[in-house]
Amino acid sequence: MLKIAGLNAGYGAVPVLFDIDLEVRRGEIVSMVGSNGAGKTTLLRAISRVIPARGSLQFDGTDLLPLAPEGAFTRGLVQVPEGRQLFGNMTVEENLQMGAYRRRDDRVGQSFEQVYALFPKLAERRRQLAGNMSGGEQQMCAMARGLMAEPRLLLVDEMSLGLAPVIVDQLLEILIDIRKQGVTVLLVEQDVFAAFSVADRAYVMETGRVVREGAVAELKSDPAVQEAYLGSI
Ligand code: ATP
Repeated sequence: MLKIAGLNAGYGAVPVLFDIDLEVRRGEIVSMVGSNGAGKTTLLRAISRVIPARGSLQFDGTDLLPLAPEGAFTRGLVQVPEGRQLFGNMTVEENLQMGAYRRRDDRVGQSFEQVYALFPKLAERRRQLAGNMSGGEQQMCAMARGLMAEPRLLLVDEMSLGLAPVIVDQLLEILIDIRKQGVTVLLVEQDVFAAFSVADRAYVMETGRVVREGAVAELKSDPAVQEAYLGSI
């Protein structure tokens, strides 16, 4: 579905990503893990065409590189940004409506029902201002807003950031449900335990390069990954 080869990107003259190869197949949950500053967010920005990039970036056979962010978005590539980026002085329902702002079909009402079924807490709080909700509820709202755009590939950036483990577990369960509904997921995470608990395959990024990749079961038993990311020797 998403095929990246030899991708380089950065900010102005500052290179951040070096020769990234990555593939996400339809129906997978793939995770990109790595410590703070490794370049994970930059990769998502390059995929969703927010920053310039060089190399090969294919989504279902379409070359994404010439596209603007709207072009990637309308083809079903939807990002749930780090820090949630909600409209705090708008209600939950208004935030969700924003996710559907480009849709011209008549199934938006149905999408609301589906999203509220996935996130019953949001249904209860649909008239509450997003800015007054807990961090976990805000993350749910950001993910729900992404789903309102009918993504084919959902790019989720640091879903677990700042949240209690019990909330992270709930969100991970929801990601599994999202996949069951036919949405493919690329999850970028500093929390390697969380990422490995839901992903089929994962990539490990260090200073802008992919240094390991494979099935999660293999990566978990890789001594270098264990030592660097899983806290064992
Ligand atoms: P984090 O989870 O902390 O966001 P990350 O792995 O997502 O980490 P990036 O945010 O992609 O890392 O940052 C990678 C590198 O790019 C860092 O060295 C960072 O300082 C730099 N960088 C990020 N955003 C910008 C920007 N807007 N302008 C210039 N440099 C940036």
